[in-house]
Amino acid sequence: MTLLFTDAAQVVTCAGPARARRGAEMADLGLRVGAAVAVDGERIVAVGPQRELEQTYRDATRVDCRGAILTPGLVDSHTHAVFGRARYEEQEQRAAGADYLAIAAAGGGIHASVRDLRARSEDELFALAERRLRRLAAFGTTTVEVKSGYGLSLDDELKMLRVAARLAESLAMRLIPTWLGAHEIPLDFRGRPDGRRAYIALLIDEMLPCIASERLARFADVFCEPGVFTVDESREVLTASRGAGLGIKLHADELAPAGGAELAAALGAISADHLAAVSAAGIAALAQSSTVATLLPGTMLFLGKPSQAPARALIEAGVPVALATDFNPGTSPTVNFPLILTLGVSQLRMSVAEAVVAATVNGAAALGIADRVGQLAPGYSADLALFSGEDVREVPYWYGERLCRATWVRGKACHQFDLPVG
Ligand SMILES: [Zn+2]
Repeated sequence: MTLLFTDAAQVVTCAGPARARRGAEMADLGLRVGAAVAVDGERIVAVGPQRELEQTYRDATRVDCRGAILTPGLVDSHTHAVFGRARYEEQEQRAAGADYLAIAAAGGGIHASVRDLRARSEDELFALAERRLRRLAAFGTTTVEVKSGYGLSLDDELKMLRVAARLAESLAMRLIPTWLGAHEIPLDFRGRPDGRRAYIALLIDEMLPCIASERLARFADVFCEPGVFTVDESREVLTASRGAGLGIKLHADELAPAGGAELAAALGAISADHLAAVSAAGIAALAQSSTVATLLPGTMLFLGKPSQAPARALIEAGVPVALATDFNPGTSPTVNFPLILTLGVSQLRMSVAEAVVAATVNGAAALGIADRVGQLAPGYSADLALFSGEDVREVPYWYGERLCRATWVRGKACHQFDLPVG
């Protein structure tokens, strides 16, 4: 079936090279006025002046955008969307002065989610995550990365990734699974003198072969942070993962500048994520690499941190920057990706164009799919989002509000709020 999207106030194409955008490239939204988008089956076949496309695609089913803003579907390249119970009690504990590592040391934080997840069935986790991902999709996200990392045992990590595989089958949105067995050293290992080495051996010798052979994850990720995994331990897990055929990502320099960005660059990781505490040397290393810097300003906001990742310094150094929600029960319980764009502009001092490119093309690059996702351009997957408003700058402006009216993934309607097709 051919669809013709017409009468948008603006078409934000983000059209350009099929790779992460850097520096001044990030300011180019490929904004078109008076343009239509033609979709044949799962793919975009044309973007051009509406009058011309109306002639060429005379038999197409029309989708009247009613003066709203048509964009590529948002690409959320960092979430922990499979989890059990919410952890709302920790917000007050932090307000009362306990920090992230103190809460973890007392058995809260990630450990609390691990205890909870281990006690739940696959079906139960599937039902919870499906509901949450539908809410995420309702804000304009059409591609979502989902990490494991609340299992931290062979069976429970496999359980999480099998839930992600089922979600990928059942939801219209595109889902990319990442194995984060190295999210934390589980408490049963932390209590043993040889526990760290034993857990790393479990990751590399037992979990990784299973996950690679069952093709349950496209990427491996490690939480590289003082008190969690060291740079050397992270290198060991990521090198083995790369050897097993997985792409690699890294939680780097979130709380302290520990050399995570430098490691991500040296290993050629597809992304280095967080980076709120990245050093000047880390920025320089990323600028020399192909690694995308994925910034998660919602996390710093929710944790009440006084500072944010140095987005301007990263962009000016030529590092490609992506934005993502970090949706998770402890430090960023939001499904509202446009709100992250608001923070990108008001906290990270990005322009609207940079924030939108960071949430589309560069998010896709952080997942290795920039050749087919993240742009409205011929040959790209027909993943689109429609937002209320007459100017794309309204998307981050009306902060916290849900402006998304509809989304399409692979040419099929995903969410439709008040928009009739045809
Ligand atoms: Zn994370």
